[in-house]
Amino acid sequence: MTRSTATHAHAIVLGASMAGLLTARVLSEHFSQVTLIERDPVADRPEARKGQPQTRHLHGLLASGLEIMTRYFPDLMEALEAGGAIVGDFGENMRWCTYGGYRQRFTLGSKAVLMSRPFLEYLVRTRTLAQGNIALLDNCAVRRLLTTTDRTRIVGVEVEQRTQDSAVTVLNADLIVDCTGRGSRTPQWLAELGYTAPVESEVKVNVGYATQIFRRTPSDDYARDWVLITPEAPRETRFGAMFPIEGDRWIVSMGGWAGDHAPTDPAGFLEYARTMPTPDIYNMMRQAEALTDVYPHKFNSSLRRHYEKLTRFPAGYLVLGDAISSFNPTYGQGMTSAAMQAAALDELLMQRHGNLTDIAPAFFKRAAKIIDTPWQLAVGEDFRFPQTTGPKPAGIDLLNRYVAAVHRATLVDPEVGRAFAKVMNLMAPPPSLMTPGMMVRVWRANRQLHRMPQPIPGNIAAAAD
Ligand SMILES: Cc1cc2nc3c(=O)[nH]c(=O)nc-3n(C[C@H](O)[C@H](O)[C@H](O)COP(=O)(O)OP(=O)(O)OC[C@H]3O[C@@H](n4cnc5c(N)ncnc54)[C@H](O)[C@@H]3O)c2cc1C
Repeated sequence: MTRSTATHAHAIVLGASMAGLLTARVLSEHFSQVTLIERDPVADRPEARKGQPQTRHLHGLLASGLEIMTRYFPDLMEALEAGGAIVGDFGENMRWCTYGGYRQRFTLGSKAVLMSRPFLEYLVRTRTLAQGNIALLDNCAVRRLLTTTDRTRIVGVEVEQRTQDSAVTVLNADLIVDCTGRGSRTPQWLAELGYTAPVESEVKVNVGYATQIFRRTPSDDYARDWVLITPEAPRETRFGAMFPIEGDRWIVSMGGWAGDHAPTDPAGFLEYARTMPTPDIYNMMRQAEALTDVYPHKFNSSLRRHYEKLTRFPAGYLVLGDAISSFNPTYGQGMTSAAMQAAALDELLMQRHGNLTDIAPAFFKRAAKIIDTPWQLAVGEDFRFPQTTGPKPAGIDLLNRYVAAVHRATLVDPEVGRAFAKVMNLMAPPPSLMTPGMMVRVWRANRQLHRMPQPIPGNIAAAAD
């Protein structure tokens, strides 16, 4: 990693969750000092804090996100494995049931890691703070932005310590990045300063999550497999996921779209597992010891703030991560989108030799390009459900018919499965599923499926033993 030639004195990152940590790590290459400001108290251990309740739920890390993280933290993979996370090829330990069968396994050629989100974040945090020029001010809430008198530049923040005396401090910086997540107050702060707030795209999905953790016996046959059950929409509305994580545990998250949410009493949660098209999760839950209660999480809508469309924006200030775009989490894209945006900021600063003049429009343009693909994938799938509302991409119904054929093809053709996995892991663009060669494979696989008895012999039945 090369540092910018024009190194600035101080950067501030608001929010020390995944986007904030990765942004601080990146900025440490370009600024003499980086300060992370976090509202919650942060303990020196893996934990789900009050300000990021979603971290109690199953978090999959896409292969492209893992690749970026290991670029900035070269020993991350070893540390994950040493701590008990499961590291393996994405396609080899997969038990992904969808459209009436299991996708064929394949070798993706890229590693996947299965761990709890607090553990991943703990490793990222300890490595970020070990950087030497990054400091964490926790238990401190950002109250407002400070500007030059003409309000054209953000020069600092007012921070309230969440101790008994609620002391207020002022911190100045050359660049401030808002990584405070979906609840970001930047739109209001901008309006208060006389700027226009960004236009928002909101796609309502009414998804509900529920999660419980169980003891895992590492010697069990399937103890390193990850199970995913995704619906054949709109006929089915439920999803289920069961991932092996560190500490010899299973994490199970289940839920559904359009209000078809999982109950949070253990008996009801088990019964919900029984309704899944494959009994993988149910069988494990029936036998294993539950280690936690069932935690709920409601996710009403995917939300995107179009900062790239603003014509006026103050200098010295950026927004990154969920604060720009928060996707329906069932597609597992949020951390990877944040990592890609942080890497794009790094690249931009390197290309400009650290020059911060007009960096906001340049960064928001790149961030929007990054967000376009996961947004299109998530929103596209969500519009399979007639209850989904919001800005619907043109031609999505037709495209979804083809994507349904791709899903079905993955039940018999591992090559189609590999191509699909590359797109969903944000390693290849969606049009790579529409090359003439791939379309022929999809058509052939669907023809083959039509001739097979249902359910496909040796598929669901074999795996569900
Ligand atoms: C149920 C659920 C499951 C998910 N599953 C996945 C998954 O499988 N894979 C995946 O990649 N992503 C997943 N996500 C998304 C993922 O959690 C986020 O994308 C990720 O945490 C990055 O978000 P962030 O850092 O931008 O914001 P957040 O994680 O929301 O963090 C914001 C931080 O800012 C702090 N903060 C807020 N206000 C202030 C303030 N005024 N002053 C100081 N600090 C402040 C908060 O305390 C918090 O620490 C899931 C999300 C949900 C809801």
